[in-house]
Amino acid sequence: MADYDYDLFVIGAGSGGVRASRIAASHGARVAVAEEFRIGGTCVIRGCVPKKLLVYGSHFAEELQDAAHYGWSVEGMTFDWNVLRDTVLRDVDRLEAAYTTTLDNNKVDHFHERATVTGPHSVKLASGREITAQYILIAVGAWPVMPDFPGNEHCITSNEVFHLSSLPKRVIVQGAGYIAMEFAGIFNALGCHVTVVNRSETMLRGYDAALRDRLLQITMARGIEYKFNCPIKLVEKQVDGSLMVSVGDQDPIPADVLLIATGRRPKTDGLGLESAGITLGQGGEIPVDEYSKTACASIYAVGDVTDRVQLTPIAIREGHAVADTLFGGTLRKTHYDAVPSAVFSQPPLASVGLTEAQAREMFAGNVKIFTADFRPMKNVFASRHERGLYKLVVDAASDRVLGVHMIGPDSPEILQAVAIAVRAGLTKAEFDDTIALHPSMAEELVLMR
Ligand code: NDP
Repeated sequence: MADYDYDLFVIGAGSGGVRASRIAASHGARVAVAEEFRIGGTCVIRGCVPKKLLVYGSHFAEELQDAAHYGWSVEGMTFDWNVLRDTVLRDVDRLEAAYTTTLDNNKVDHFHERATVTGPHSVKLASGREITAQYILIAVGAWPVMPDFPGNEHCITSNEVFHLSSLPKRVIVQGAGYIAMEFAGIFNALGCHVTVVNRSETMLRGYDAALRDRLLQITMARGIEYKFNCPIKLVEKQVDGSLMVSVGDQDPIPADVLLIATGRRPKTDGLGLESAGITLGQGGEIPVDEYSKTACASIYAVGDVTDRVQLTPIAIREGHAVADTLFGGTLRKTHYDAVPSAVFSQPPLASVGLTEAQAREMFAGNVKIFTADFRPMKNVFASRHERGLYKLVVDAASDRVLGVHMIGPDSPEILQAVAIAVRAGLTKAEFDDTIALHPSMAEELVLMR
């Protein structure tokens, strides 16, 4: 290994790259990482973290609305987007500094410039410097897809949405996936008029249908408008700076901001992988084996760039596993079964394991479904009519719980714990044996009969 400049050179200092760097260094490897933007990657800089803070910030609207029922007087409350935006951006700065400190503490060299692959053991920095390494790890993530229609230069993506100079009055969101539903919720709670337009009639593809229906119903009641089967045809900028958006065969819709949330593509363009004999997949992803090794034995790839499961905790696990495999003396894979996930819509939904439709297909219909459709007591007290919905999907033959699906207040917080039970393969009888924690929403999970 001594013939190389480094034992491991990581391209991309996001969730997967930073974890791999830190763990490899802790195993004694000489590690460097190159990052062309900011240390922390999508999750920390313009994804999960600032998004969650905006969700928290916007959720006060609901709390304040309900507060009067609990005796609080909230007259005269105002909201200032600039304060929330700037506080969030300051927190992002703080986290970036913390990530940088982590690299420094672990003696990981970091280069703040783009790096491209020039061969199985070499990379080139934008400044021209060539660096060699025994192993190279690609962890460059993904990038928002911008659909091709006239006027798309007037649109923004999740990269820009955190920096809006003012709170728009009218927002159109294209797409009905994670990012679309989360930002539709944020803007709706902050008082903007929100229209969600999607090319199909499906929202949150992959989630259980009952939860999706419930989210649609609640968010429509909250004032979000939906236009399904409506591709965007044209966006025209008006003299006052606003937008006129033509969708489907309908009348054009005026908007101040059009947020595109139509998926994220692996950021592999111009990365030089062909110099190491790596052929990209159809969506630009890097094909890897179960140890995250590419077609080139010295090059690994983790996280969104491989397009396995585009979630931060998966990138972290994959990065950690690569470091352990290469330098820790332990062959380690990442498991992809029972991966919990959540959409921080308002209300949020959370899910682990098989949906009812998936289970019916896999188990030839031999499944049992249990549901709790309830109005959380804090909603009842505040005269809020929104209902929560929890669903257990159970294998009728073995009684094993195959999936848990929830929509309602705090469902992501509750789901993380129940994901342990699903991963452990517990049965419905074991759920039933568990004593309820009263009064809580989570107790519904052990009271379904
Ligand atoms: P998603 O894949 O979740 O949703 C994409 C949406 O855009 C779908 O409604 C899809 O429609 C539509 N769409 C896809 N391609 C096109 C196109 N070419 N033209 C028009 N519409 C299109 O992507 P997001 O951008 O919302 O998020 C990207 C990824 O980031 C997610 O997959 C997720 O893994 C991750 N993420 C996770 C979060 C979390 O864990 N809470 C939060 C945010 C992002 P249709 O379904 O009808 O085909």
